Amino acid sequence: MDFSRVQLDDDDQKFLDEVRRFLQEIVTEEVLARDRETGDNFDEGVHLAIGAAGYWEREWKADSERAFTRVQRRIWELEKRRAHVPWVTAGTTAMISRSVEKFGTPELKDEVLPRVYSGHVRLCLGYTEPEGGSDVATCKTRAVREADGSSWIINGSKMFTTGAHNCQYVFLITNTDPAAPKHQSLTMFLVPLDAPGIEIQGIRTVDGDRTNIVYYSDVRVDDRYRLGEVNGGWAVVREPLNVEHGAVDAAVDGLQDVSIMMHQAGFMAAAVDRAAARSAVRDPNGRKLIDDGSVAYRLGRSVARMEAALSAPSIFGRVALAQAMRDISPDLMDILGTASALPIGADGAADDGAAEYVYRFAPLVGIYGGTLEVFRNMIAQYALGLGKPNYSPPVANKAG
Ligand SMILES: Cc1cc2nc3c(=O)[nH]c(=O)nc-3n(C[C@H](O)[C@H](O)[C@H](O)COP(=O)(O)OP(=O)(O)OC[C@H]3O[C@@H](n4cnc5c(N)ncnc54)[C@H](O)[C@@H]3O)c2cc1C
Repeated sequence: MDFSRVQLDDDDQKFLDEVRRFLQEIVTEEVLARDRETGDNFDEGVHLAIGAAGYWEREWKADSERAFTRVQRRIWELEKRRAHVPWVTAGTTAMISRSVEKFGTPELKDEVLPRVYSGHVRLCLGYTEPEGGSDVATCKTRAVREADGSSWIINGSKMFTTGAHNCQYVFLITNTDPAAPKHQSLTMFLVPLDAPGIEIQGIRTVDGDRTNIVYYSDVRVDDRYRLGEVNGGWAVVREPLNVEHGAVDAAVDGLQDVSIMMHQAGFMAAAVDRAAARSAVRDPNGRKLIDDGSVAYRLGRSVARMEAALSAPSIFGRVALAQAMRDISPDLMDILGTASALPIGADGAADDGAAEYVYRFAPLVGIYGGTLEVFRNMIAQYALGLGKPNYSPPVANKAG
């Protein structure tokens, strides 16, 4: 891993200036306020503007003549984050478009991918079901092939299909052979969300995000929307799952995040910065919060925890970041006092709601894309070699 600072040449500096200007123009205060209100983490105007300027194609289409260089890609990612470009639906679209490219028929790719790059088509993840999402392979949503083989009938429901109401297709895990072992029973589809029989219902999470429950009632899907082999869905879904879990190799040139969830961690860094700045402000009696030893201790501990989490790589980082967000945010709110309980935009909020937002956001960051408990088990099993977890009840000690 190369930790040296990247020196931008003239072309890269020009690219950075151009991208920063472009994003500043399209991601306005109005866009950000609307996004907070809808909880969508998506703005169609911004998404289409990025598509029209060719940036989605440059980011997502690996064989595009205009594909970003490694340095441009890094600049683009950091500038999107700096400008607070809504990221959730863009992220799922990017991830699934790679699976369409790899497993879709030429006909399906022609239908979907050019419009993905223009921004007109967005894609969401349909994995989790009401009865449980950690083990996605235990899927109950059924797809049954019609007698003539040309289409499928899908029945079931999916929880937490984030962005479905802003997307045109859902990357859906279905069960096509309930009698088979679970990893040999799955088939993946890219289901058009305007198909009759699909109903999308909104759900708001504690941090204000919008996600959905989606019902599938006798939804007829043409076989050309199938991705990969019948009952071979695990091979299709494993790759995007690994990306979502952050279980992918680090880039040797260092031009990528140390771990996933860095975007989310940015909110923690902003809250820590604001608490530190606020602690150094003198009150009318000339006193500063930081002069109190317990404030200095708790602020210092928060900074240390955050820095350690920001430096942890791969799936370790994914756990460390979400856990640090959970641990730090109550400390920051304690330091800042009751006015820190006011949310962003409220008059009199101690830090414009930064720590309060992290406090509500942190639990979700430790759930979506896999819970902290599941990740800790993965680390124990695969990284530390401690074997499979044993969930059976403890055996009574007869001797005792
Ligand atoms: C805001 C948000 C957005 C989401 N977006 C999407 C999306 O777009 N698409 C999608 O498909 N899903 C999405 N999800 C679902 C998310 O991936 C699941 O919530 C997550 O995988 C956990 O599944 P579950 O909620 O069904 O919990 P369950 O799997 O039912 O788990 C319940 C509890 O048991 C624990 N547990 C489960 N298995 C184990 C184990 N093996 N070892 C130890 N503990 C275990 C869990 O840690 C948890 O505490 C989203 C969730 C949230 C909160």
